[in-house]
Amino acid sequence: MQTNTQIQDTLSRPIRDLRISVTDRCNFRCTYCMPKEVFNSEYEFLRRDDLLSFEEITRISKIFALLGVKKIRLTGGEPLLRKNLPILIQQLSKIDGIEDISLTTNGVLLTSDVAKQLKNAGLQRITISLDALDDETFKNISDVAFDVDKVLTAIENAQTVGLDPIKINMVVKKGVNEHSILPMAKHFHNSGIILRFIEFMDVGSTNQWQMDDVFPAKEIANVINQELSIEPAEANYHGEVAKRWQYKDGGGEIGIISSVTQPFCQTCTRARLSAEGKLYTCLFATQGKDLRHLLREGADDNHIKDVISAIWKKRNDRYSELRTSETVLLPKVEMSYIGG
Ligand code: SAM
Ligand code: SF4
Ligand code: SF4
Repeated sequence: MQTNTQIQDTLSRPIRDLRISVTDRCNFRCTYCMPKEVFNSEYEFLRRDDLLSFEEITRISKIFALLGVKKIRLTGGEPLLRKNLPILIQQLSKIDGIEDISLTTNGVLLTSDVAKQLKNAGLQRITISLDALDDETFKNISDVAFDVDKVLTAIENAQTVGLDPIKINMVVKKGVNEHSILPMAKHFHNSGIILRFIEFMDVGSTNQWQMDDVFPAKEIANVINQELSIEPAEANYHGEVAKRWQYKDGGGEIGIISSVTQPFCQTCTRARLSAEGKLYTCLFATQGKDLRHLLREGADDNHIKDVISAIWKKRNDRYSELRTSETVLLPKVEMSYIGG
């Protein structure tokens, strides 16, 4: 029987969350994530054999749990493109120490049947991404032909099966969808669903990010406050990424994720595992550590645990705090690959 070890990095941050990308493919081509010019028929996505199997993901997750991970989020690419995902969720939900399993999806594959299967398998929470309520803006961003209604139906399906809480991620890009902030806030006001606004980030090297395209968190709050009064709310737990705000009329809460204008690296407890088994300790990393070869070449759990532990103990990432015009140009790993 292996023992639990609580490890910390050089900034005394424990490892608490593991984000697992189950595929680097997606049925959207969001301009801020997988622009069509790059992610086209020429692009070399991972091959089936490159992907970690469910057994490999589960084995590695067990090892992460021994090091302090309590929450797992499945992401991608579009995680619902991965066949039989509920089987993976079932396996992960049996791991000792894992208290919470969630999923981030663009929603278009979340039929009522899929929602039921995910919930029955042990999925607790879901985040569905939606950047606008009008089809024109939505299609401009997602760059595919799906309608907003498809995502709204997915949200209903998640509600019906009792995934709770449901969060909605809206990336705000200046000049593109800031006009959708208020309609989105009004739509989800009083719904029990938590809308979270995310500043457009310089992840990867393909989305042509510029500081001028960031619609700052402070302005997001101002726009909402003009029509729906909000006030800051207490964080649910230390290190919560989204700054919570609540409607003064009791209509629920929103979150604002200010990774660019007010970074939160000091409390970042997240590790990321790519679909092919590379470990990244920061969303903006340039390199990851290949764990797949350890899994496939017969390393025992103790050895893999030591490798992960050594990486975490050396971790000093705080990219968002150190962001400069030079770092923005570094060849960073793509978000569709590493998992949002
Ligand atoms: N495909 C799924 C989805 O869109 O929900 C999961 C993966 S996606 C990479 C995870 C989250 O990252 C989404 O909410 C997406 O909007 C967000 N995201 C992607 N690129 C981003 C960027 N450049 N800045 C901020 N958020 C981004
Ligand atoms: Fe796909 Fe999600 Fe990236 Fe959009 S944000 S391209 S839905 S992975
Ligand atoms: Fe964590 Fe890196 Fe983001 Fe900072 S920049 S919050 S270290 S993922």
